[in-house]
This record gives sequence, structure tokens and C-alpha cells, in this order.
Amino acid sequence: MTDTQANLDAARERYRLEREKRLRVDGLGQFKELKGDYADFDKDPYVTEPLVRDSITEATDVVIVGAGFGGMMAAINLQRQGITNYRIIEKGGDFGGTWYWNRYPGCMCDVESYTYLPLLEETGYMPTEKYASAPEIFSHCQRIGKHFDLYEHALFETLMGDATWSDETNRWTITTSRDDQLTAKFLITAAGILHKAKLPGIPGIETYAGKAFHTSRWDYAFTGGSPTEPMDKLGDLRVGIIGTGATAIQAVPQLSRAAKEVFVFQRTPAAVGIRGNGPTDEEWFKELSAKPGWQAERMNNFTAAVTGEQPEVDLVNDGWTRSMWTNTQMAGPTPEANAALELADFEIMEEMRARVDELIDDAETAEKLKAWYGKHCKRLTFHDEYLQSFNKDNVHLVDTDGRGVELINETGVVVGGVEYPVDVLIFASGFEVTTGIVRRLGFDPVGRDGQSLSDRFADGAHTLHGILTANFPNLMIISTVQAGYGTNFVHFLSESGAHIARLIRRCMDDGIEAIEPTTEAEDEWIMTLWGLAAGMADYTSVCTPSYYNSEGQEVTEEGARNVTYPGSLLHYVKFLDDWFADETYPGTKLAKKT
Ligand code: NDP
Repeated sequence: MTDTQANLDAARERYRLEREKRLRVDGLGQFKELKGDYADFDKDPYVTEPLVRDSITEATDVVIVGAGFGGMMAAINLQRQGITNYRIIEKGGDFGGTWYWNRYPGCMCDVESYTYLPLLEETGYMPTEKYASAPEIFSHCQRIGKHFDLYEHALFETLMGDATWSDETNRWTITTSRDDQLTAKFLITAAGILHKAKLPGIPGIETYAGKAFHTSRWDYAFTGGSPTEPMDKLGDLRVGIIGTGATAIQAVPQLSRAAKEVFVFQRTPAAVGIRGNGPTDEEWFKELSAKPGWQAERMNNFTAAVTGEQPEVDLVNDGWTRSMWTNTQMAGPTPEANAALELADFEIMEEMRARVDELIDDAETAEKLKAWYGKHCKRLTFHDEYLQSFNKDNVHLVDTDGRGVELINETGVVVGGVEYPVDVLIFASGFEVTTGIVRRLGFDPVGRDGQSLSDRFADGAHTLHGILTANFPNLMIISTVQAGYGTNFVHFLSESGAHIARLIRRCMDDGIEAIEPTTEAEDEWIMTLWGLAAGMADYTSVCTPSYYNSEGQEVTEEGARNVTYPGSLLHYVKFLDDWFADETYPGTKLAKKT
């Protein structure tokens, strides 16, 4: 046996052992929602002067729920299709979605700015860094809002109330928390993918008496500073942070600069590759952006590179594309191809583990920071400062050996029977991703015959392309459930927005008052998804728990239905294009103007 083979066998066994430590019977049930007793965690800390406005009564063509990139891209694409009579309803105080809510220190995009920040060509904007910081991305959202005149359509600080379909009028009737009364021909839900924050259901969490908040509701009034200024009120304080995912790895270096002590409570180490961030070379960007269509080309190239399509040129050429080039749905066509994929996966993770040894001074700490799972089990992370933070005297890694925090009491956090008193406790515990659509929407549309969407989706989603659903005419869903998914979420959102807008345009031109799929077409779509997912099943079945596999819980029917499109986003887009090119609206029922 070669050394490599022996190492691979040993890693496989280690992956299995680490996974077993983390499997829990409660699966997704281990988390708490930011409501009820935890409603305070969900308050918007960024609106300083609450908006005062009169309620409106209006008949419009389209209502879009959500003003993040999904909602913005839908709105802009509607405008491109000549549809300007629409409203955007948004809970937050501005455009941005993820980038409105996530203002934690160190927050930045983890996909290259030139592919992630949409509409750079249209707005003429040059990101200042290869991986732009959150304030810059939030400003870009506002720039887009102004450039495309989206503000005049937006109803901010407004929650959806009811949304009810009427067969008599072929319209949706919509109410809001501000007593608005709207009707719309089409209802687009772009309510977010990673927006519903969750807390770990650690025993005693409600007894903690110090300051506590979730990373997506950062309390700068308490920590001092701002997203652009160092935090200046933590100098005498002990900070605890629970979680070591994509968020924590960005926040910990900043906390390590500001706080007296930082305790990082780790259940599963993140795999942290080289980021290589730096300022944008203006000359290079000028040349790059001189070619019309450059950004769409770069987005497509990135998505191809991270989904194993191995484009001739790797335009982005960063940690993502170098780590993901073997991602061919995680299974090859032959046992030999599978073996090659497994080896490549192992080697990439070995590099990440070797990086920990290179960067961490203390050997014991280094061992604890190594990630023992396959590269598609959790979202990979990349950072130039996170690991090095653990060399600082004021930063303490509290590894829970896969078991998670045991208890929270009035004064701190307990792990392995040891109490760690902290003055502030920060939950970097992530967001709901694989839970049901309606739960994450925040309202429950009522379709034909008074049926609610939660009732229709009681056993999981039923859709055509993740967008249309039977009995809910003219409802267009933007979500990753039964739809595409990509490392670059904005690529997915741009494609969905464009598709939905062209579909609405065509319906209007063809005099179609109501469109919905047949249940047969929905069944065919889920069979297509399950067929494609077969290649992934073996891989994910041995993965450590994460939001990718619903925390390793047994697959329920609901879970099986709430899958994302398992292949490349580019293939999903091709499905949409082919479907649209067939001008007969295959698999749908249409109500035409009489
Ligand atoms: P994650 O879900 O990735 O991480 C949550 C963390 O909380 C994990 O480390 C988890 O441990 C830990 N945790 C949960 N319960 C416990 C417990 N009981 N005890 C101890 N630890 C616990 O959330 P993030 O917010 O970090 O990231 C979510 C996603 O948001 C990312 O995958 C990414 O898609 C996106 N994101 C994107 C960024 C960008 O730059 N574009 C930046 C930040 C986030 P365990 O791993 O064991 O479950």
C-alpha cells in the first residue's frame, strides 16, 4: 500500500469518527428561532429613526417581497422588460438584505467582488478590493437602488401581512404591517436564502445575564466602533463567541484586536484556505471592464470552475476555483473516476490541514483547528488572519470535541464541566437553510380555495423549477428549494430574476391572466432532481453534520423535497432557457383573457 493510500484510508476513518461524535438525534431541532422568548435578538439595531409613513392602497402589476439582491435583481429585470408598475416590500430599513443585516466587524464577501457584486458594468463601479467589505457591498446595494430608481418602489420597515389569490380578479391581495392594501397580478417572493438567523438550543441559554446578540444583529452601541471603525468598548471585557463557521472566521480577528479576552467555542473546525485579499489594481480593472459583457462571462466562468466543468481558463483563479475544480456532483461515472475524486478531495483538505500546522505556534491548538471532513460537507472558508488569531495571548480556543457547548448559565459558558465567564456572548450560529420555504418566508400565501402554502408544502415543496407551484397562480418563488444553487449566490439570484421577469413579460404579452404548473409537471421536476441527486447521496451520507445535510438528520419526505438543484447552476439555467424557448409553457395550466 502506498503512503497516500494509507493516509487516505486513515482520513476516511477519522472523518467517520468525527462525524459520529457530532450526530445528534435532534438534528435541525437543536436550534431556536429568533422569536418568542428570543424576539429581542431579532430587533433591527440599525434603524435609528423609525420610518413614519401613511399606508397606501394601490393596484400594481407585481409585488416583490424582499429588497436584497434577489428582490433587486427581480425589480431591475422587470424594468428591463418594460414593467415599471411594481412594489418592493422589505422588513429592513434599506436595500441590501444580507448586506443590510450583516454588519459584524470583518464582514466581507467570500466570493470575489468582481463576480459577486452585481451590475458593475451598468453602474460603472470598481470594487476597491478583491473581496469587498460589507459596508462597501451595502453601499453598492444603495448605489443600485439609486441607479435603477428602485427607491421609489420600496416600502421599507414593512412586514408582509396576508397574501391571498382571487380567481375572480386573477390578482393577489396583499396587506402589510403598516395597513397597506395592495393588489398585484404577480407576487414574487425573494425573501432571502440565509436570512432567518438561528440560535443554538443550548440548555440555559435564556439564563445568561450579560449582553448577548447574534452576529447578524451586531450591537455596536455595546461594542463601540462601527463596521468601519475599530470597536473601542471591549478593552476591559471578556467576549465569548459560539460558532466557527464563515461568519466567525471573519469576526474573530477583529474581536482579537479589540477585546481583553476572546473565548472561541468550537464544535467543528472550519477548513480555512488562503484568501489573498488585496486592493484592486485599477489598470487591471480598466482592462477587464473594457469588454462589454465581461461580468456575465466572469460569473459563468466562476460557476463553471466551482462546479467541476473545468473551463479552459480559470478567470478568477482563487481558493474557491482551485479547491472546487473536481466538483462533478461529487461522484464520477466509474469507480476509477470516483477514486480520483476522493483522492483530490483528500489532498485539498490535507493542504488546509497542513496550513494550520504552518500558521499555529502551539501544536495542541493546531490539532484542534484541523477540519476532518470532505470538502463538500461544509462551505469552505478562506481567510488571511483567522488562524493566526489563535497565536495571540488573549484568544482562547475552547474546543468542545464535536459535542458543542454543554450549558450556558447566568455568567458564562460551560464546556467539559469548566465554566468560562464572559461579559458578552456572541452567537455566530448561522441561519436556517434547509428548513421549509414558508417557515423562512415569514408569511403564508393563500392560494386557490383558501389553501395556504404551508398546507400545500406540508410534506415539502411541490414546484416546477423551484419557481411555480400548483394552486398558487402567478406566485413566483425565488429560493434555493428545488431551484439552482451556486457558490456565488448572486449569480443564482441574477438568473432567477431574469427568468421570472421574462416569464411575466410573456404572460402579459400573451394575455395570460394566471399561470401555474400541473401537479404532474411538479412530480416530474422532483423526479429529475432526485435522479441528479443520486450521485451525491453516497458522498453526503458520510459527511459531518452541517446545514448542507440538515445536520445529518435522517432524510424525511419534507427534507427530500426541499432539496436544491443538485447539479451545476449552469445546467439549471439551461433547463430554464430550454423551457422558455419552447413557447408553449410546458407543464403549466394557463387562464387566458376572454
Ligand atoms: P454556519 O452555520 O456556517 O456556522 C454556525 C456555527 O455555529 C458552526 O460553527 C456551528 O458548529 C456552531 N454551532 C451551532 N450550534 C453550536 C453549539 N451548540 N455549540 C457550539 N457551536 C455551535 O453559520 P455562518 O453564519 O458562519 O455561515 C452561514 C453561511 O453564511 C455560510 O456558509 C455562507 O454561505 C454565508 N456567509 C457568507 C459570507 C460571505 O462572505 N459571503 C460570510 C459569512 C457567512 P458546527 O459546525 O459543529 O455545526
